[in-house]
Amino acid sequence: MSDKRKRIRTPFRKHHQSQTRRGDLTRDFQQDRIDEEAPTSERVSGKGELTRHRTVTGQPQADDAKGLPVELEVGDAEGMLGRVLCVHGLASSVQGDDGRLYNCVTRGLLKTLSTTQRQTVAVGDRVWFRRVGEDEGAIQRVEPRTNAVSRASRGRQHVIVANLDQALIVTSTCDPPLKANLVDRFLVTAELSRVRPIICINKIDRVDPADLQPLVGVYGQMGYTVLLVSAATGFGVDRLARLMKDKESALLGQSGVGKSSLLNAIEPDLKLRVGEVSRETRKGSHTTTAAQLIPLKHGGFVVDTPGMRQFQLWDIVPEEIAGCFRDLRPYVHLCRYPDCTHTHEADCAVKDAVADGRLDARRYESYCKMLSGDAD
Ligand code: GDP
Ligand code: ZN
Repeated sequence: MSDKRKRIRTPFRKHHQSQTRRGDLTRDFQQDRIDEEAPTSERVSGKGELTRHRTVTGQPQADDAKGLPVELEVGDAEGMLGRVLCVHGLASSVQGDDGRLYNCVTRGLLKTLSTTQRQTVAVGDRVWFRRVGEDEGAIQRVEPRTNAVSRASRGRQHVIVANLDQALIVTSTCDPPLKANLVDRFLVTAELSRVRPIICINKIDRVDPADLQPLVGVYGQMGYTVLLVSAATGFGVDRLARLMKDKESALLGQSGVGKSSLLNAIEPDLKLRVGEVSRETRKGSHTTTAAQLIPLKHGGFVVDTPGMRQFQLWDIVPEEIAGCFRDLRPYVHLCRYPDCTHTHEADCAVKDAVADGRLDARRYESYCKMLSGDAD
């Protein structure tokens, strides 16, 4: 590393603090402050307690495998902000804020760390890069992440996608039949990753929408946005498109529920691109877990992961599940035993609430199933 380059700290963006929702869940997350003054952004991975960690951005700490180095090479003035669409080793494809695509390399300390320890640039990252050619650049700095969906692999956290704004949980009224328990699982995943979930019930053309009202009501009462849509008739597609505009969204859901059809309904030009992306990722077996972002014409990005199921339940610590059920959450502190699992214990406020109808019985059953590790 040239000693001409000085590193400075990236300014702390205040709104990050409001984006952490510590305290929402039933218990506090592990906090291991590394440097009280360093700018930090915290998030919780989708894994359980053991793998949970903060993504800390701040002064580079070479021996800190968890820290995401944030550095600015002073003197490289003509930087441009962009969004990482996909990563192949040290090369990434970045969409600059000018709308153009740049093939970028990772350099400096970022490069050192990514080769020796962990990936430092992830899909979804906002990065500063310096243009070095017509469509080439060098990444200099990674902006603090608002969140990161990650997975442990060989003892390391691997960020699948960063800065996700929302998870569109797509389900269908039939073919395949609506599986509310699966929706609940995705909701838990989203809550754990601190990503806003939006429930999207597709193929509404195949049923009488009134039949869905009880289910929609239960989720609506918890504060979730529920959309009834039909990729076939276009019903609800405008609203979905509005919700996706300028956001980074992931579509979660079993195959066959209509995820591709909905994307194509929103942006017909995607048709080919979505197909191409999945064909390409199927080819290389080593890249099958890599996500990529697809830019939307009207603003925003969609995450394309080969096999969206990767976002499905990781091995969550059982004690965390109740805290991820928004409707159970208000009751868990009222149980007689602080470690109540809300299954067999006496004086359980959750069970009482189910018994007198304050809690939806199906949601409670869904909770019990998840706790016991039953697959749907
Ligand atoms: P994906 O696997 O989730 O991407 O689902 P697809 O988009 O491939 O859709 C699966 C099947 O459902 C296809 O045959 C679609 O034509 C059909 N489909 C998708 N959306 C709708 C819808 O709103 N109504 C009806 N009737 N069929 C749909
Ligand atoms: Zn209880």
